[in-house]
Amino acid sequence: MNLAMRAVFDLYDKFPDSRRINIKYSGRFKDLNANVTYTSREVVFNLSKKWLEFSEELRVGLIQTLAVRIYKLNSQSLEMDLYEKFVKNLPKFAKIDKSDELLEDSFKRMNKIYFDENLTRPNLVFGADAFTKLGHYEHQTDTVLISNIFKDNLELLDYIMFHELLHKKHGLKKTKSGRSIHHSKEFKLEEAGFEDKDIERKLRNFVRKKRVKNWFGF
Ligand SMILES: [Zn+2]
Repeated sequence: MNLAMRAVFDLYDKFPDSRRINIKYSGRFKDLNANVTYTSREVVFNLSKKWLEFSEELRVGLIQTLAVRIYKLNSQSLEMDLYEKFVKNLPKFAKIDKSDELLEDSFKRMNKIYFDENLTRPNLVFGADAFTKLGHYEHQTDTVLISNIFKDNLELLDYIMFHELLHKKHGLKKTKSGRSIHHSKEFKLEEAGFEDKDIERKLRNFVRKKRVKNWFGF
């Protein structure tokens, strides 16, 4: 599956129609331009080559944002939030901007307890109500993005924050063949040092309840 196929599939949990989905990186675009072209048989996402310098998550967000227009099917993802925020912040790229107090406090707590206050403050943002991807760390923009559903549960917010900060600390590691390693052995070992050993169970329960609530619309 190419990146565009994966982005479209992840967004809708299916392929919206039977057309082939392709991605092309082109040198003829200026800056970070991109567009999407289509025929009755194929949808092609054309991205400027410059996009290759950015993370897959960000490119997925871009493709999904274009996909919503083409397929006229609404959906939302954390990657799309990330992309939107990235575009908004392009002029002051990688500059720290103001963020939600809840996130700020959570960052401070985790930084103090687990990182000896050694981490610099990343950009901190709440994303959409996501139930599968609960948080994300974007290396390129130094941004921690956390699903909105944790706004009313600080305990779990801290745990997600801790996880994403571990990504910041450990950086991007790649295998010899160039694949990204997201959760290395050292990462997992350090993650297991989280104080509350029951936290994974609490997280699963919380997400399940939230999802049921969301499903029934209350
Ligand atoms: Zn992770």
